[in-house]
Amino acid sequence: MAECKESTSCSTCGSASSCSVDEKQRHEQELLAKKLESIDHRLAVMSGKGGVGKTTVAVNLGVTLAREGLNVGLMDVDIHGPNVPKMLGIETRRLEGSEQGGINPIEVFPNFKVVSMAFLLQDRDTPVVWRGPLKHSLIQQFVKDVNWGHLDYLIIDLPPGTGDEPLSVAQVINKMDGSIIVTTPQDVALLDSRKSVTFSRQLQVPVIGIVENMSGLICPHCGKEIDLFKVGGGRKASQELGVPFLGSIPIDPEIVQDSDRGAPFVMSHPDSKAAQAFKEVVKNVRAFVEQPEKNAASQA
Ligand code: ADP
Repeated sequence: MAECKESTSCSTCGSASSCSVDEKQRHEQELLAKKLESIDHRLAVMSGKGGVGKTTVAVNLGVTLAREGLNVGLMDVDIHGPNVPKMLGIETRRLEGSEQGGINPIEVFPNFKVVSMAFLLQDRDTPVVWRGPLKHSLIQQFVKDVNWGHLDYLIIDLPPGTGDEPLSVAQVINKMDGSIIVTTPQDVALLDSRKSVTFSRQLQVPVIGIVENMSGLICPHCGKEIDLFKVGGGRKASQELGVPFLGSIPIDPEIVQDSDRGAPFVMSHPDSKAAQAFKEVVKNVRAFVEQPEKNAASQA
């Protein structure tokens, strides 16, 4: 093996051509393991289908944790529909290499960093046509080659359903703390969220719990709650499946407005009922992750 800069990925190393395939593989695995050592907790946000507010939950979860003073990374691996940057108002930013090696994530605040496929695209209208192996290597690079620094939490926004990306995440990050499954209260969404619970268990990723999003509408005129898509289905599904229920987030029209203008809702409306609900979800997630002994019973 030629002069090996230990902290540099083989893909950007000038000497890598003189290394054997085995040497490169071993070096990359070492780099990955080293990177994972500096990430205390790893959470995936999943949903059985699109449009239930998975990315909204991932973004507001990340911002809430960062506002609690923790170092947070948000990895958007919804490769075909990366919406995290839009929701954070950073969609025009691009990832850049650092002089010391590696890729610098986009810093939303000093303790909240993001990577996304959206930062690599020429334009948002061209679809990404990638098969599994390419997606796998992107996910690996997002962990291994990104200069995350020390993270208390890495949150991974997965695409909806049970495709390649969750499989790759479970393989690359072999010690996940768990998954958060987002659903809406209608029966059709709940049916899909049951699949997510089973899938997560198949991947040996513990289920932290279910979040019921769009649970009742807060009337913007009178402030009362209207059960637009029913309520309580998420709690019922969590009881049936034997996983914790993490909380209900109401429909709030301000969430749509804020997502569209790239302002994290929990920052612009911290006193709203929905922001309080996000806080409750974060409290339950932290209790699960930071006190694992209490949660062994829910991982049948
Ligand atoms: P997914 O990631 O599941 O596809 P998104 O997070 O992109 O879903 O949300 C889909 C749309 O629903 C977005 O316009 C978002 O602003 C809106 N939305 C999500 N949660 C809520 C909520 N609790 N109240 C109102 N609108 C919401």
